[in-house]
Amino acid sequence: MQIDDYLKAGKIAAEVRENARKKNWVGSTVAEICEEIENEIRKREAKPAFPVNTSINEVAAHYTAEPNDQKTISDTDLVKIDLGVQINGYIADTAVTVCYDPQYDNLVKAAEDALSSAISKIKIGVKASDIGKTIQKTVMKLGFSPIANLSGHSLAQYTIHAGKSIPNTWSIGGFSLSGKEAYACEPFVTTGNRPAGFVREGKTKNIFALVSRKKTKNKEADELQDYIWSNFNMLPFALRWLVKELEEKKARELLEILIKKKAVHAYPILVETHEQRVAQAEHTFIPTEDGVTITTSL
Ligand code: MN
Ligand code: MN
Repeated sequence: MQIDDYLKAGKIAAEVRENARKKNWVGSTVAEICEEIENEIRKREAKPAFPVNTSINEVAAHYTAEPNDQKTISDTDLVKIDLGVQINGYIADTAVTVCYDPQYDNLVKAAEDALSSAISKIKIGVKASDIGKTIQKTVMKLGFSPIANLSGHSLAQYTIHAGKSIPNTWSIGGFSLSGKEAYACEPFVTTGNRPAGFVREGKTKNIFALVSRKKTKNKEADELQDYIWSNFNMLPFALRWLVKELEEKKARELLEILIKKKAVHAYPILVETHEQRVAQAEHTFIPTEDGVTITTSL
């Protein structure tokens, strides 16, 4: 584990996240938000670990801007800005929910409080299921519902979801946290006061990742695959990141070929099943003997 790179990536992610939190994005398009934040990461000599997610209202996760996406933030929208920074493949994954309508302050606060109460429990050896229990308890006490089928995760070099889950609700079994691994904790909360809320997959897919390298019998598609591998490795990317090199129409065609060949996976957006609003907070951390190093804290 490259702790220095985790810490460097985390510091950049924290700075960029806090700037995003302070800014008033009303009237901005999602394309402007994603590009501005990704450029802030690049300016700090790091790379985005995945396209900035700007998931609005009932969309809980996995929405990023299409090229020139004109979807515009209104003063009642609740936007989860989820960003990733990588240095040599070591990732900081962090999120903030922005909203300028005080009606939703408590929902946003519930996600933040659940994250802090979870983090206050963490040290080497703590069971992931106990973190889920803490998140669920905190969220329900505040009158909201945790999303049960979204969870935090272990991280590895060039791998965002490295196999272990940090649940947002109580669950049976699970693993104990190690000091040799980085993890992301990310409570998602929604309205209602139930033990669990859920998300379902939506139709939109605008985040992609290379999942296996295979020949397609199409020279241009193979070249695009090589381009993706050398620029993003197996980390997620957006069509926006391809249209610098290719015409948009061409990029879509070639990407479609790679998806059909199962060389590239397309991630669907995740939507709250009752179309209710969702807030999120997220930090990346490494457990220690007596607590935790939050890599994405300022
Ligand atoms: Mn994230
Ligand atoms: Mn995450």
